[in-house]
Amino acid sequence: MNITIKELNKKEAGKVNKNLMDFRPVVCLLCGNKKKLRQRFFLSSIPLKSEAANKTFKKKLMNEFGLTYYAYDEANRKLITTAKCPECDNEKMKWEY
Ligand SMILES: [Zn+2]
Repeated sequence: MNITIKELNKKEAGKVNKNLMDFRPVVCLLCGNKKKLRQRFFLSSIPLKSEAANKTFKKKLMNEFGLTYYAYDEANRKLITTAKCPECDNEKMKWEY
């Protein structure tokens, strides 16, 4: 399975799925930091609907961007969002709408 991943800025991501725009990281689950949590958006070339697609995507996201954890909105499974804590490098956040 061949998947290409493109990083989008927030404005571009909003055009793909505005539902995801209100979804944001609020606190790092590892160290409790709430500041400057860096949210990023990526567009997959295929919708992440199967386990195989998610597996391939995850591997590629890690290889190309060093990220391992992502979330998407059911309305559009091509656009995903990630976040990273600047304090401890953790990617697991509490997310809020
Ligand atoms: Zn942290």
